[in-house]
Amino acid sequence: MKALAGGYARARDVTHALDLLAQADGMGRVLAGGQSLIAAMNMRLSTGDMLVDISRIADLRGVAVEDGCLRIGALTRHADIGTDPLVATHAPLLVQAVHHIAHAAIRNRGTIGGSLAHADPAAEFPACVLALGGTIHLQGPEGVRQVAAEDFFVDVFETAIEEGEILTAITLPLLEAGERHVLIETARRSGDYALAGLCVVKRAAGHRVTAFSVGPRPVLAMAAMERLDAGDTAGAVDALRAEIDPPSDTQASAAYRRHLAGVLLTRALHDLTGETA
Ligand SMILES: Cc1cc2nc3c(=O)[nH]c(=O)nc-3n(C[C@H](O)[C@H](O)[C@H](O)COP(=O)(O)OP(=O)(O)OC[C@H]3O[C@@H](n4cnc5c(N)ncnc54)[C@H](O)[C@@H]3O)c2cc1C
Repeated sequence: MKALAGGYARARDVTHALDLLAQADGMGRVLAGGQSLIAAMNMRLSTGDMLVDISRIADLRGVAVEDGCLRIGALTRHADIGTDPLVATHAPLLVQAVHHIAHAAIRNRGTIGGSLAHADPAAEFPACVLALGGTIHLQGPEGVRQVAAEDFFVDVFETAIEEGEILTAITLPLLEAGERHVLIETARRSGDYALAGLCVVKRAAGHRVTAFSVGPRPVLAMAAMERLDAGDTAGAVDALRAEIDPPSDTQASAAYRRHLAGVLLTRALHDLTGETA
């Protein structure tokens, strides 16, 4: 099937993009890398949208250290995140994630802003940004605002982005001395979406654990984090399995995903300490 769009316009800059969205009578749809949106349009899961192409807005691309944070522009592509030295230094979790995302053609076009805005519960970047305690920067007709990752992911494919807003950037805390990151997942084939996956961040203040592909949105596993901070690994595995609500589908049963999440946590902790599982 062919996509059925309601129109197309390329934005020169963010102000122009916001104007185009405002003129679209609620039918405006941001087009970034197109790797999820065009696929959905081709399947007629999305029709009649006025596409506002932001892909050439240079200000929305790139990585920098600014005001004591790592700032990643929304249009920074997966492949660029995988090779960026600042990301490697301050957010190695994202570099690990890139190796698991789809295949090279998609990583060359897909953007981190698109991945977060799309909010696929099986996607890696949303769980990473949540594990790192990131902030999502939005710009809309009323101005700019920031949303903590904890408040950003609402449901399957649903976020805190309001009508007419654009996700412009993500900021993350800089890596502390001794901080460690592990992303681990199981997929049927390399590049497939995960059956279940985990991010573990270990900081002086404690652990942060997020799980993906185990519910309608990435889960910050508070009970598991508490058990890990208390040094109770077995308790953390039990707590994680209790606090996720995975779906059953053609790929895996809920029971299998719940079991897998616990196995992945054990392996991630071995990776953190450098021991073999
Ligand atoms: C075959 C296949 C396999 C894939 N496998 C994986 C995988 O294993 N893991 C994974 O994480 N992802 C996977 N993806 C998704 C891929 O990572 C996409 O690139 C990403 O989810 C969307 O980024 P995009 O820039 O292409 O966004 P687009 O497709 O352009 O947009 C996606 C959605 O986000 C909105 N949007 C995009 N950018 C913005 C913005 N700046 N502000 C507001 N709204 C915005 C759009 O309006 C649209 O609703 C896969 C995709 C395909 C086709």
